[in-house]
Amino acid sequence: MVEKFDAIVIGAGPSGNAATYTLAKQGLKVLQLERGEYPGAKNVQGGIMYAHELEKIIPDFRDDCPTERHIIEQRIWLLGDDNYIGTNYRSESYNSDTPNRYTIIRANIDKWWGERIRKVGGLQICETTVTELIRDASGKVIGVRTDREGGEIHADVVIMADGVNALLAKRSGFQGEAAPENVALAVKEILFIDPELIQQRFGIKEDEGVVIEIMGKVTKGMVGTAFLYTNKESLTIGIGCLISDFKEGDCTPYKMLEDLKNHPVIKPLIEGAEMKEYAAHMIPEGGFKAIPQLYGDGWMVVGDAAHFNNAAHREGSNLAMASGRMAAETVIALKEAGKPFVAGNLAAYKKALDDSFIIKDLKKYRELPGIMHANKQFFGAYPDEITQAAHNWFTVDSVDKRTKEVSIMKSFVKRRSVFGLVGDAIKLVRAMR
Ligand code: FAD
Repeated sequence: MVEKFDAIVIGAGPSGNAATYTLAKQGLKVLQLERGEYPGAKNVQGGIMYAHELEKIIPDFRDDCPTERHIIEQRIWLLGDDNYIGTNYRSESYNSDTPNRYTIIRANIDKWWGERIRKVGGLQICETTVTELIRDASGKVIGVRTDREGGEIHADVVIMADGVNALLAKRSGFQGEAAPENVALAVKEILFIDPELIQQRFGIKEDEGVVIEIMGKVTKGMVGTAFLYTNKESLTIGIGCLISDFKEGDCTPYKMLEDLKNHPVIKPLIEGAEMKEYAAHMIPEGGFKAIPQLYGDGWMVVGDAAHFNNAAHREGSNLAMASGRMAAETVIALKEAGKPFVAGNLAAYKKALDDSFIIKDLKKYRELPGIMHANKQFFGAYPDEITQAAHNWFTVDSVDKRTKEVSIMKSFVKRRSVFGLVGDAIKLVRAMR
């Protein structure tokens, strides 16, 4: 006899964990399946974890959640060849009892989620890959098949939280292949380093953290960003660019990361650190226009598998947790009302998403991916011009300031033309509004 659950959740990343925890806490019979040897074994994140969404799901998460440092300072840097221009935001208010963001190491966090899920009665099984969705004669999803012997399991509803590849939705015809310009490939390293050095180099106390988001010449004109985050006893450094750009160019992600680590501005920050872990992963960056069908008879899709990622703000895990929670709340409401899990009823999930920051934010930046992909000057010419202009402006060399202004302007116009500059400004406004 095939075992039946109220819900099956595929994947133990932040979206699947949020869904499973929410369902189990409400007393539903839920099974979570994860292909990794343990939760987090297959997962890659920079990573910053945003507390607000997690707090909604597990209000007391700070009691035992293995976070690294709470972030008190955010830096945004535009790198030139040997320089950078940037901005910092630092606030003592982030030193409160309820900090807003933390650096994390995913393997630790995902294991912790597993413990919390078990405590509220959820069943999480690892080393089990879901190979396909099972559908009845009408096409409704009624369960999953796994790579285990006799691995057929049934449920009222299946929540796909299987990450950016979304293989199950694709295999079932619910999603098409993602275009290479809609997906970034990111590589990162965790570098082990003495905590004292982290504190000295970044101007922080024990437990305080700094994160640096990086753009500019390190992506070699490709659409992409880099990052450097402070953990307790390590630094996380990474870089990612669109797959379509990697295909066209001849630079490998690994070479790009090596160049980032050797950049004169970055090198002194990581000097003496030893590589602990290397990982590569994809990030869905197509934004609003790349969102697939989100629900159907007996199924919903959440997190990266639903292409929920706000590349402009480098937010992914919070969208994942929020969408997982909303999918679970939809299931709970239907269960309580005794309604069937058909598309018409699961549409409530889409309504919740539409009313939330997820769809509102992705809609706001709907033109951004297309504009960035088609206008590489934002990742090549402008970082070059801006960092050179800063160098010119801040170098005291007895050239009068008016002459400096004129030479900076001339350099921009020579590179982009007046029409080009005006056009680029309009494009930027369109991309951000
Ligand atoms: P995932 O975390 O990818 O989890 C999917 C899970 O499903 C995995 O555990 C996988 O093993 C499992 N799975 C897949 N297929 C199957 C199957 N068939 N059967 C069983 N299990 C399966 N976000 C942030 O908020 N802050 C950051 O700083 C940040 N930095 C990032 C840095 C990098 C380099 C990358 C790659 C991403 C970063 N993100 C960041 C994005 C964030 O990691 C994702 O948005 C988030 O992990 C999505 O969660 P998810 O649960 O949807 O998917």
